[in-house]
Amino acid sequence: MTIPTDELVQKDLKHIWHPCSQMMDYEELKPIIIKSGEGVNLYSYDGKKYLDVVSSWWCNLLGHCNKRISAAVKQQLDTLEHVIFANFSHIKAIELCEELVKVLPHGLEKFCFTDNGSSAIEAAMKMSFQYHYQTGNPQKTRFMALSDAYHGETIGALSIGGVDLYSQIYKPVLLDIIRIQAPDCYRCPFGQNCKNCDAQCIKYARQEFEKHGRETCAIVIEPLVQAAAGMKIYPPVYLKKLRKLCDSYNVHMIADEIATGYGRTGKMFACDHAGISPDIMCLSKGLTGGYMPMALAVATNEIYDAFYAPYLEGKAFMHSHTYSGNPLACAAACEVLKILKEEKILEHAAQKALYFNALLKEKFSSHKNAGDIRSIGLINAIELVKNKDTKEPLDSNKRTGYQIYKEALKKGVILRPLGDVIYFNPPLIIEKEDMDYAADVAYKCMVKILG
Ligand SMILES: *Cc1c(COP(=O)(O)O)cnc(C)c1O
Repeated sequence: MTIPTDELVQKDLKHIWHPCSQMMDYEELKPIIIKSGEGVNLYSYDGKKYLDVVSSWWCNLLGHCNKRISAAVKQQLDTLEHVIFANFSHIKAIELCEELVKVLPHGLEKFCFTDNGSSAIEAAMKMSFQYHYQTGNPQKTRFMALSDAYHGETIGALSIGGVDLYSQIYKPVLLDIIRIQAPDCYRCPFGQNCKNCDAQCIKYARQEFEKHGRETCAIVIEPLVQAAAGMKIYPPVYLKKLRKLCDSYNVHMIADEIATGYGRTGKMFACDHAGISPDIMCLSKGLTGGYMPMALAVATNEIYDAFYAPYLEGKAFMHSHTYSGNPLACAAACEVLKILKEEKILEHAAQKALYFNALLKEKFSSHKNAGDIRSIGLINAIELVKNKDTKEPLDSNKRTGYQIYKEALKKGVILRPLGDVIYFNPPLIIEKEDMDYAADVAYKCMVKILG
């Protein structure tokens, strides 16, 4: 039986306030009602197929309705759906931590469970603040973050974010953050090439550490890829230097690997490219393969120990979320780790990444508006500019990226550019023919809009 799509759309628009959307845009571009998913594809009620090269907001890792993950969740569903996580535990949470410790950067061993990326960031910030308070540094009350950072939408996470589109209007209610100018490899202020530079831009961080290090609990960063800013990529040497600065000023490094973790950059975690360990790492998105909302703030034993004391000393971390450690999410997350290992997903993804990077370079580089074509792992981005020599951006009021998005949807590819940056961040299991199709459609749509 086919359900009339128009009717569904009307009902949707009557009630649903969609995320990150000007709802008036939906007058022209109606919501697409998805019926099912399989592998890299989604299928709508009106029978169209959509290639999900954005991994449904970067969380689908191993394909939609992956047989193994689905089976693991179904089995868990008939065993235990949820349990209070204070003083109670369950086997899948324990298994998940044991297995993750094996692949996480050295020293990250204590797991705080939350239920979305923003809440993991909040937990990490509170944890860091309280650590310093309880270890004789109550003057450490502030946070540092990079320009163009994105760490989520709740008040704390939004505060450390540096993308005005999301935070500008809320400034009066946000925390006062120490802002560090982020690396900008496409428009490097030092005229360097990021392939072999020495991260001179660490200078901006050093200046702020000198001025504010004493009053700072932590710096929160997206390692190697500032994703929401337009997949801005910077080299590992920057992270290494930042780690040293953090050590000298007793400032925690909170690595937000919510977007970069789980093989997106070619290694399990972006921090692995630099061989560094953060003090706290936040994970979500790929964690459950895109199945269930869950996130983690993983801390060192050193941080954990600062909270470990007789109850009446009042040092406990009194942070909780109702759905902390949800067993269904943990079951999915355990299966994801098994699949990554048993099916050698990262090794195969590395081969695909080489192919995809080369394909996009070949296809796009001669186009007059393809300013920067950058990639790390299977993440690929094309920054559109008005003029390639001056790197002058397109007029953002023209919403070029959005026009290209609409064209690509007609051809069954979900691009969802970030401003005027077209990007691909597909499930790691994507095959050649789908990469070919995505690249082809993106190119044709770009030509249609920009000539
Ligand atoms: C998506 C994202 C978040 C926020 O996660 P939510 O689950 O959407 O709250 C935080 N940081 C980064 C880097 C992200 O990409």
